Amino acid sequence: MILTISIAAILLLAGFAVSARWTWWRQSKPGLKVLCYHKIGVPPRGSKLAELWVSPGKFRSQVKYLLDNGYSTLLFSDLKKLLESGSPLPEKAVLITFDDGYENNYLHAWPVLKELGAKGNVFVVFNTIGKVNLWHNPGSESWVNMATLEQLAEMQDSGVVECGSHTMNHPHLSALRLEDAAWEITESKRQLEAAFGREMCAFAYPYGDGAYSPAIRSKALEAGYTFDFSFRQGKTAWPWDRENSTIDRLFIRGGDNNWDLSLQLSRGASRL
Ligand SMILES: [Zn+2]
Repeated sequence: MILTISIAAILLLAGFAVSARWTWWRQSKPGLKVLCYHKIGVPPRGSKLAELWVSPGKFRSQVKYLLDNGYSTLLFSDLKKLLESGSPLPEKAVLITFDDGYENNYLHAWPVLKELGAKGNVFVVFNTIGKVNLWHNPGSESWVNMATLEQLAEMQDSGVVECGSHTMNHPHLSALRLEDAAWEITESKRQLEAAFGREMCAFAYPYGDGAYSPAIRSKALEAGYTFDFSFRQGKTAWPWDRENSTIDRLFIRGGDNNWDLSLQLSRGASRL
């Protein structure tokens, strides 16, 4: 009797623990699904942002999960065509995005996308192209190589990857004077378009900062971007209410497994 009660209590506790870690009990909801990655590789020793690193093996397994489950992976330009044509969003459409433009995206993500037949999108910080992640304090997050102009061009020319803008210098936009924030937003679009000879229709706010400031957001829309991406967890209702909302994202952490991925896609989150 006591044994039975103990086992029941243990199972109950385990059930609570699992339900606190994986939010399977959340309701599924429709909307645009945009995965957000940063670095593909193994975090350097002492990294304080290790969760922003996803191993190449895990990334491959996640892309394979998407394709095995019938998802099509969109480029920014595919999403733009959907928006402009007023077409309904296919239920199994997803955007894979990478923030910042690290060289490890070229070394470890692009080959996987090419091999499996998927598409990805990279938000680039123009002034760090071919350099390192200068906006990080190297005491807490090591400097690593950013992709070069040639690597970014090669990925785009393959038709597998498209770039978007992530400002000139990765600042906290709301900490700048409005005219300087506007320059970060517009100048990066101009420079990237000049460098690659193609339209940059997507912008992501560094740290998500400025995404909810009407003054800053209006600068992003005035700059001519079709899409602006925030740093808020979730899916975005489609048709998109562009006037009133940025596009939210689903953050993939280094410790996530494919169940996290499936919960993110269906529920908009896998954790509390
Ligand atoms: Zn960033």
